[in-house]
Amino acid sequence: MSSAKIIDGKACAQRLLIGVKADVERLKADGIAPTLAVILVGADPASQVYVRNKILRAQECGIRSLEYRLAADSGQTELLALISRLNADSEVNGILLQLPLPAHMEEPMALQAIAPGKDVDGFHSENVGGLSQGRAVLTPCTPSGCLHLLEQVCGDLSGKHAVVIGRSNIVGKPMAALLLQAHCSVTVLHSRSVGAQALCRQADIVVAAVGRPRLIDAEWLKPGAVVIDVGINRVEQDGRTQLVGDVDFASALPQVSAITPVPGGVGPMTIAFLMKNTLTAAVQQAHAQRSPSEAVCLSTY
Ligand code: NAD
Repeated sequence: MSSAKIIDGKACAQRLLIGVKADVERLKADGIAPTLAVILVGADPASQVYVRNKILRAQECGIRSLEYRLAADSGQTELLALISRLNADSEVNGILLQLPLPAHMEEPMALQAIAPGKDVDGFHSENVGGLSQGRAVLTPCTPSGCLHLLEQVCGDLSGKHAVVIGRSNIVGKPMAALLLQAHCSVTVLHSRSVGAQALCRQADIVVAAVGRPRLIDAEWLKPGAVVIDVGINRVEQDGRTQLVGDVDFASALPQVSAITPVPGGVGPMTIAFLMKNTLTAAVQQAHAQRSPSEAVCLSTY
């Protein structure tokens, strides 16, 4: 019998969203209406679903959402003009640019155009640099969600050996920075790593963000490891499309002390942290705009 525990990301995200909703209500009573602007360029079906889900969650939390849709053949100048307008709009607290952008657009330039204080995805170099220096900045939603799950499961992460598999700018690198900030010893593995399986097998904590279905099986895991599976991979199985993670769940389950499922693990946490970041951005902007005496009641958020 396995004593493994399946980490319920959906329930954890729901608890976070309840907290966000309560804070949003208190802010509204204080005359501040947290607002998230979502920009979608083109009509990629998966992106449309992601945007719809984000807007639905925002509405559930009482966060005002504004949706901006640009045609797939829009120019970079048009996108930058929209971002600039939203940066200048004091009623907009957070700006989310849904990725990927159409191939003719320059993603880094567009992300860099978002005002760092409204960058609720945490991708602006100001926020990336702040995270690596340990400053309190807006941090990327997926790794923030993973860290929260780990803290719920493990408590203090100090001194634990964490292995992050994947080094992307949106997941792997910020995840490593957050774990380092939580006082873990961090190893980052990637496509050029030599002896990845043996290195991973030393880890107390494994965060898999690779994009390869079921790459990590029991052979990669130390008995009792805690595993966070970020991967979302579509595979054809038994004549239908299924979502699976980067971890072979059935193989890993008997070996680990806790593991996130796919779906229902990291995914819901990503959206919950988008809402949290929007709330944080709204509070920080209110602090910046108000006098210290007016801002006193905001300090509780
Ligand atoms: P990416 O393609 O940008 O990066 C993948 C990383 O994996 C790279 O750094 C690469 O070096 C590494 N890699 C590839 N093959 C490897 C191997 N055999 N061994 C070790 N490392 C290897 O992907 P990403 O954007 O970081 O996303 C990773 C996965 O997470 C994808 O499945 C994506 O769909 C998923 N994802 C989920 C969420 C969520 O909310 N749950 C959010 C973002 C990404």
